[in-house]
Formats: sequence, C-alpha cells, structure tokens
Amino acid sequence: MGSSNNISELAKQYGVTPSQVLSALQSLGVVHEGDEFLADSDELELIKDSLESQRGKKVLVVQDGATPRDIAQAIGVPPQDVVKNLMMKLKTMAQLTTSLKPDIIEKVAELYGCTLQWGVTEAPKPAAKPIVSRAKKVDEPAEVIRPPVVTIMGHVDHGKTSLLDYIRKANVADKEHGGITQHIGAYQAKLDQGLITFLDTPGHAAFTAMRARGAQVTDIAILVVAADDGIMPQTIEAIGHIKNAGVPMIVAVNKIDKGNANPDRVLMQLTEHEVVPEAYGGQIITCPVSAHTGEGVPHLLEMILLQAEVMELKANPKGEFKGIVIEAKLDKGRGPVATILVQEGTLKIGSNVVVGTASGKIKAMTDYLGERVNEAGPSMPVEILGLSEVPMAGEIVEVALDERAARNKASDRSDEIRKQLIAPKRKISLRDLRRQLDSDETKSLNLIVKADVQGSVEAVRGMLEKIQNEEVEVKIVYAGVGAITESDVLLASASDSIIVGFNVKPEGKSKCEAERAKVEIRAYTIIYELIEDIEAAVKGMLAPKFEEKYLGSVDIRATFKLTKAGFVAGCYVTDGMVKRGCLCRVDRAGERVYEGKIESLKHIKNDVREMSNGQECGIQFENWTGFKEGDKIEAYEMVQIMD
Ligand code: GDP
Repeated sequence: MGSSNNISELAKQYGVTPSQVLSALQSLGVVHEGDEFLADSDELELIKDSLESQRGKKVLVVQDGATPRDIAQAIGVPPQDVVKNLMMKLKTMAQLTTSLKPDIIEKVAELYGCTLQWGVTEAPKPAAKPIVSRAKKVDEPAEVIRPPVVTIMGHVDHGKTSLLDYIRKANVADKEHGGITQHIGAYQAKLDQGLITFLDTPGHAAFTAMRARGAQVTDIAILVVAADDGIMPQTIEAIGHIKNAGVPMIVAVNKIDKGNANPDRVLMQLTEHEVVPEAYGGQIITCPVSAHTGEGVPHLLEMILLQAEVMELKANPKGEFKGIVIEAKLDKGRGPVATILVQEGTLKIGSNVVVGTASGKIKAMTDYLGERVNEAGPSMPVEILGLSEVPMAGEIVEVALDERAARNKASDRSDEIRKQLIAPKRKISLRDLRRQLDSDETKSLNLIVKADVQGSVEAVRGMLEKIQNEEVEVKIVYAGVGAITESDVLLASASDSIIVGFNVKPEGKSKCEAERAKVEIRAYTIIYELIEDIEAAVKGMLAPKFEEKYLGSVDIRATFKLTKAGFVAGCYVTDGMVKRGCLCRVDRAGERVYEGKIESLKHIKNDVREMSNGQECGIQFENWTGFKEGDKIEAYEMVQIMD
C-alpha cells in the first residue's frame, strides 16, 4: 500500500515543473490520477532523489504542436496566463487549443524560465499530457462548446448601453442586414474566434430577477466603470450581485477617450471593494475601453472569449431542451411574445412547450437579426410566438411530448401556484381582518397588479409600494405581465384584493367572474392616474379622525329624585346647548368629578333631544348620580374631520 501524493505540491517543493514530476513518475512506472499518485515509500524516495537532482532547473517537456493549455499544464500555471502572455508579451494571438509553432513554444519556455525539452523520448506522451487526455475522456461526445452568455452591469451613465450598441454595430449585423438588428433582449456578436451572446438589458434588475427564480443565465459579467467617474453606488451594488452569483467578472474601464479619464484610479478603487485587478496582483481582468471610439473593445471581446474558453462552456444540442425566458410582453397583434435563451438542446418550430403556467406550440421563431429561424441551439436567443400567456423573465422553458401534455403540465402548475398563493393568504387575511377589527393595528390594501410588459410591472409595483402611511399598508399580493385573467380574479377574491391593470384589460370571462365575486378591477393607461387613485383609496381607508366640538355650558342648580327615573340634576343652560347622548365633563370647585355621557335630558317631565342657552332642564348621567348643586357641566361631542 502506498501513500497518496500530490504532483503540484512536489513540483513546488523542488522548484520544478509538474511535467518534470510526471517524467519522474513515468520512469518508475508509477501511475497517477489527475494531480494525485500513489507511491510506496521506496518509490517516493526515488522520485524525490530524481527531483532533487533537477531542483530549480525548470524543464518544460512538451511535444511538437503543443497548445497553450498543454504548456500551462506542463508548467503548472493557469492556461489563461499562457494565452495572455502570448498575446501581451509575444504579440501572438492564440486560443487555448491552438497548436503553437516550435519557435513560439521556445519563447514561452524562456518566458517562464524553463529549459525546453521536446517530449517524446524522455517524457512519453501519457505522462506529458495526462490531464488533458483525462479531461477528454470525461467529455460527452454529444457536447459541444457553446458561446458564453454575457451580462453588462454598472452604474447609470457609465456607458453600458453605449458599449452594447458599439458591439452590436461593429460585430453583429452583417452587411446584408444593413446594420439593423432587432431588440429582442439579447444578441450575438460574431468574432473570428467565436460567438458571444450578450443580454442587452443592461443593469442588474434582470440579472437579479432571474436569479430570484433560481435561473443562472449569465456565464460572464462585464462590470462597466466610467474612467472619469470611478466607482459609484450602483457599481458597488453590481459587484455584490456578481460575487453573490459566483459569476466571473471582467471590468471594462470605459470612457478612456475623455480628457479627465483616470483609469488607474478606477483600478485602485476596485481593490477597495475586493475586486483586485491583475495590475495589483489579483485575478480580475480589466480592459480600458471607449464605447465612443471603439478603442479597446476588440480586446475586451477577446478577453471574454478567453475567459469562456477557460470555463469550457458546453451544451448538448441533441439533449433534452431547456431554455430561459429573458423578456416577455404582450403584443397587441401577435399575442404573448417571449425572448428565450436556449441553454440545452434545440428548440424547433412546432415544439410543444411549457413555460411556468403558460403552454403552447411554437408558431414562429425570430433571431436577433429579425430573421425567421426554424431551430435554435445552445446560447442562442430567439423570440418565440405561440404561448398561451405571457411568461415571466427567468422562467424555465421545457418541451413537452405533445400539446395536451404541455397544457396539462401548465395547468397543474397554475393550480399549484394558486394553491400556494391562496392558502397562506386566506389565513393571513382573515386573521389580519380580525386583528384589525379588534385593535388599532395597521390596515392593509391588498393589490394584484397586471401590466403589459415586465418594465411597467416593476414601475407600478415600485410606485405603489411607496404609498404607505402609519395606518394603511399597500400589499402587492401578486404582480405579473398580461391581461387580467380569471385566475387573477380568483386570487383577488381569496386574498381580498383589488386588481389594478396598467395597459391591460380583463380577458375572457374574468370580467363576469369579477362581478360575481365582487372583485374590483381598475384599469388604467396613465400611470399617475393609477397612483393617484390608489393614494385616494388609501386615504379612504384611514381610520376616521375625530375632533372635540364644544356644545355648551350647564350649571347644576338643584338635585331631586323622581319616583320612576331616580336622581336627576336640575340644570340651567348658561351657554350654547346640550344634547341628549352628548359627552360631558363635570367640575366641582375646579376639580373634575365626572367624565361621561348625558344619558337623558328632560324638560319638565318630558324627554327632549336638546336644550339651549337660557333653558332649564333635568339631566341624568350615564352611571353617575354623585352630582351636587353648584357643579358645572361642559357638554361636547366628537366630530369626524376630513384631511
Ligand atoms: P448607461 O446608463 O450605463 O447605459 O450609459 P449610456 O450608454 O447611456 O451612456 C451615458 C452617457 O455617456 C451618454 O451620454 C454616452 O454618450 C456617454 N458615453 C458612453 N460611453 C462613452 C465613452 O466611451 N466615451 C465618452 N466620451 N462618452 C461615453
């Protein structure tokens, strides 16, 4: 039995390259599994002797036609590092899998301080390239390299849109399209070395919305920082989102064409947020660019492709289909339209799909050039038509066996969602109602928001959530894209909500259903009207405010007992008036002796409603008979006041 040892650790210990350690293993017939090998103590001694004799003398053992990746593995450095050095220091563009010419390999060896040794005799093939061959074995034959999916994030006005536009113009539209592309939420940039899919809704709203649904669409995030402005609040926010998602980041330091640009300051500021650029000894690639002049943009694109290569992004175009909704809207003429990004498999015209609670048969697909396509493979964004309702961004698209299966799956899901939404809401709503009745606690105005596009949903939601005061809370029970459906009415009825529609109307039977269930639907086309109405509703729900209103003053001049009615105060109204049932305070020699209600008011022996200044009357108080001659009564009432 041998012990487990590590190739890279030994290489480090003896100051040699991992390929030298492999050579030593090979010469003793010791096999290895990746970076690990098993050797007994004698074997380990021999290996160490061999390494000791080579200590400090780094030898790069490679074969003719080696690639940057082979070299990186032989030396024990990140593959990206070799490609970058080739590009920066040797002015040679190469991808990880490009076979290099011998003179270039020599230069690379020199660059890393290694003596070059052409591999076949002294370091036989399996030893020199073990990791590569191992990695290849793992590859699924059906898997192919797919383009990286890139999101651009950063502070407002730092040039996200400009950068996306520049790339779109320079690298997307081929000449036959006359530079015109369709805005479908994503596009692909075509470079000699490969394709890059850009999500072209910049900002992190979409990124987080998708992540909130558990969908990870982005492979690489580009953080745009304006060189004149430096790190700003949304830059920091974006860094947080990117790190949280565990997505590799490339920083594009934009606007370097500006006179006051200070890219170095940006790099330094980045380190303060634990984004350490290579220039500061970290791992983060930074690219100075100008979205105006285009300077540095090709380099940025190369870096994206390089990063993608290192990530070995793969997908199986023949596998089970999986896509993600990037954007969706309701088009007046075409019905629900969704842009989806293919993640696995291939989507074809006629496929039966399920997206969240929507289903449908794909009627048409259009790419970002506005061209009709019949199928879409991995990392390709396409706009699809044929869904039954507008899905939400971030929802997963799946293919079902047939139309019926798709419909059933979608309806199962909507039942499930409805159950989830209704069950807790109903309880909470009832309990809250009881609590509200029993106490002075916050009341809530429950709303269901429906709008034509995701952007409006978010805008309306954002504004509504700001309408709060101490007494009424606006609760958005559900917010989504599309017409007001029966299931919205159902949910509204169960959760005691009002439905507000922005640029959408009730469809099908939902209007009748709403009337039947007494659910209020309010449809608007002007956002401020919507907000004003809800504000008014909130005011209407405020607990009424009351104010004390003085009625009059009354003196008690005598006390007497009536046989039937009991003790009565004989009074004289000295000012204003007094009403039966009004509130009053009674003071005796400046001290309060009673606070309560005037229960009965009599004139002579008759009950009367009110008595005015200068009149005599008999008064009885609620639960109090302790009055005396000389007591002074102040009569008042509480009246509701409006804001
Ligand atoms: P976004 O809010 O991040 O999408 O920023 P925009 O792309 O809308 O750009 C904001 C402003 O900066 C616009 O006026 C652009 O013309 C300008 N801008 C963007 N990139 C550059 C650049 O590289 N150089 C210069 N000089 N201005 C730029």
